[in-house]
Amino acid sequence: MARQASAERAWSSISRFYDNCKKQIKGKKGYPNFKKHNRSVEYKTSGWKFSETRKKITFTDGKNIGMLKLKGTRELNFYDLKSLKRVRLVKRADGYYVQCCMSVDRQINLTPTGQAVGLDLGLKYFLADSNGETVESPNFYCTSERQLNRANRKQSKKYRKGAKPQSKNYHKARQTYSRKHLRVSRQRKEYCKNVAYSVIQSNDLVAYEDLNVKGLVRNRHLAKSISDAGWSTFRHWLEYFGKKYGKVTVAVAPQYTSQDCSTCGETVKKSLSMRTHVCPHCGFVADRDHNAAINILQKGLRTVGHTGTSMLGESSPLVSLEQSCGVTVGC
Ligand SMILES: [Zn+2]
Repeated sequence: MARQASAERAWSSISRFYDNCKKQIKGKKGYPNFKKHNRSVEYKTSGWKFSETRKKITFTDGKNIGMLKLKGTRELNFYDLKSLKRVRLVKRADGYYVQCCMSVDRQINLTPTGQAVGLDLGLKYFLADSNGETVESPNFYCTSERQLNRANRKQSKKYRKGAKPQSKNYHKARQTYSRKHLRVSRQRKEYCKNVAYSVIQSNDLVAYEDLNVKGLVRNRHLAKSISDAGWSTFRHWLEYFGKKYGKVTVAVAPQYTSQDCSTCGETVKKSLSMRTHVCPHCGFVADRDHNAAINILQKGLRTVGHTGTSMLGESSPLVSLEQSCGVTVGC
């Protein structure tokens, strides 16, 4: 089954490549590569077995992984083993992890809050919403950058050109360095997750920009700050929580969101350094990001409303309304 799973991965990467070609995505299409140093194995419903107490897992596919002790706080006795559809063994910089995927029907109904919000992701703030609130940017990479660079220097000092194998001290330094990177990426993930969760909890509709992060990162002056902001991670969690709690998330086209006036719709040209939006047409004054967030919310509401009307035209309520009208006229 592990082999099946990796064949499935190969197929998914091939089909992704063809999809990218069909969609005519600019730049590299992601032609499938053979992975030399694979960091994970995926099993389906066989090839693994938990011990009685579920504190140990044994891999029984004859590839000599053998028995592994499980650490961590997750209580596995709580779950039904039959619902586990995938077991994945993943290597991270600080150890090996077992990921268990299970299929659960879960519906969490929250009482509607009656709130809708537009989010403008930025570099000065992590995000600014259409109510004028801002969330600070944590800049995890920036704060750890000196530490990271020092660890990187230590690693390259231990590197001997042409030596095979490299010394033990080199590998120690390499592991320290990669653990530090792992820490930063985890910090960013947790932060994005928390913010996304609270946004979803307090709103029914969330509109955000459909940013082309891959394209923006190509700007080498801003690449580091953009990657550090974790926009893609944030979006991922926002969509995840939106699905989980039954809230609407809309991605809108990012064009003109910061240039247009949110009150009268006129275009007010401004450069990146101009932080306030002052409209000469209607006199609306707001923070640049606040104005953009309102625009995003308006765009989002427009898209949602649009899909709603098109569905109304196709579905039965409108038809039945016409019929009942006909009956009254006939009477
Ligand atoms: Zn205006």
